[in-house]
Amino acid sequence: MAKPLTWQSATVEAIHPETARAKTFTFELPDWIPHRAGQHYDLRLTAPDGYQAERSYSIGSEPERQGVIDLTVERIDDGEVSPYMHDVVAVGDRLELRGPIGGYFVWDIELGGPLLLVGGGSGVVPLMAMIRHRAALKSPVPTSLLYSSRSADDVIYAGELERLGAQHDGLEVVHTFTRQQPAGWAGYQRRIDRTMLSEVSGPLGKTLRAYVCGPTILVELVANSLLDLGIAASQIRTERFGPTGT
Ligand SMILES: Cc1cc2nc3c(=O)[nH]c(=O)nc-3n(C[C@H](O)[C@H](O)[C@H](O)COP(=O)(O)OP(=O)(O)OC[C@H]3O[C@@H](n4cnc5c(N)ncnc54)[C@H](O)[C@@H]3O)c2cc1C
Repeated sequence: MAKPLTWQSATVEAIHPETARAKTFTFELPDWIPHRAGQHYDLRLTAPDGYQAERSYSIGSEPERQGVIDLTVERIDDGEVSPYMHDVVAVGDRLELRGPIGGYFVWDIELGGPLLLVGGGSGVVPLMAMIRHRAALKSPVPTSLLYSSRSADDVIYAGELERLGAQHDGLEVVHTFTRQQPAGWAGYQRRIDRTMLSEVSGPLGKTLRAYVCGPTILVELVANSLLDLGIAASQIRTERFGPTGT
């Protein structure tokens, strides 16, 4: 069994486009070990001249899926690693990964709920691992996902979220579309704010566990609003994507 922080050579088993800007890469790991939903892997690219670039990517798949992990990468046009992943990496390629990493932004069904998951853009990835873990073990923990996207076309895992949300097993999926809404859309159409959080979290009560992931600006607003709404700081876990806080 590999130590968690040993680099291993993982093979790209499948590439699945989620949206125009996000792709899921399924990696087969020679030394797969079970992760906890919410953890991430580090990915390292090495150029022929030896130059290396390293980035973190959350695991989107549930721990119950053995031998492989899914990483979903959103393309940042002026970025170094994400355009390479989108434009160059192909099925069969081998890339260096190390993980699973992280012990704070994690949720197992043993931790219980109710669960409030709030994500923006690719911030939904670790939240999806929690939703898939909950579904795999048929957990009844009341769970609400509040997911902010620019438009319906930007929703990652759209089909699966729709299917899971339609099962009426205690999972509510609530979208807000900040830039463009589908015709006839009657749901939220603005950035997440305190009123929205109050409406979505209300039915879960004040003892909920909150996991908030996305750009820093979203994460800070959501965390502060939840504190204002009377949720204890110890119940709020956050993960920030993107180094600049944009
Ligand atoms: C714990 C953790 C988990 C992460 N999980 C995921 C994940 O599941 N999926 C995913 O797509 N990304 C995830 N990220 C972000 C990822 O690590 C990279 O930062 C991202 O892919 C950009 O890398 P890059 O090399 O393409 O861009 P860089 O070359 O690093 O940056 C290029 C430019 O884009 C800006 N930028 C960098 N990252 C972002 C961003 N996320 N949003 C907006 N602007 C940005 C930079 O400030 C810079 O101006 C995660 C980050 C962390 C810390």
